[in-house]
Amino acid sequence: AAMRHLPYFCRGEVVKGFGRGSKELGIPTANFSEQVVESFPSDISTGIYYGWACVGNGDVHKMVLSIGWNPFYKNIKKSVETHIIHTFKEDFYGEILSIVIIGYIRPEKNFDSLEALISAIQGDIEEAKRQLDLPEHLKLKEDNFFHLPEGKIVNNH
Ligand code: ADP
Ligand code: MG
Repeated sequence: AAMRHLPYFCRGEVVKGFGRGSKELGIPTANFSEQVVESFPSDISTGIYYGWACVGNGDVHKMVLSIGWNPFYKNIKKSVETHIIHTFKEDFYGEILSIVIIGYIRPEKNFDSLEALISAIQGDIEEAKRQLDLPEHLKLKEDNFFHLPEGKIVNNH
């Protein structure tokens, strides 16, 4: 069920998240608007994924993405959050984020501590980096999708 919708192409505005301090943990996550989240297939598995991401007309970078209810924070709403594996000079709220979700890493889990959460995410990032270096995954980095005019919102073509 996790893989059926992949690869999944998605583009939308970056909005303010829940102010949970992801950035303070060193793992900022760019949140999509509720509207974009609702355009996702309702049966897509919650959990952690990897893929490629691009802000505006910028370069395409590796990313890890979470879809779900974020049990650690007891969220009541579904969220789709992208951590881009790149250091940006500035925040990019309001910009258009384009992503292709390629593979599934793991389901969401509850963690006993912040340290356990952070080390799980660091493990996810390492896994994403390894996977995305595979030739079949590198190919999608060059996909035309990332070169479409940025005003055009396309969900899975
Ligand atoms: P919020 O709760 O508003 O989502 P976060 O602490 O998760 O706050 O920070 C997310 C914001 O940080 C993004 O919307 C973006 O503007 C900025 N940001 C800077 N670097 C990154 C990155 N590498 N990946 C994702 N977002 C980043
Ligand atoms: Mg966030």
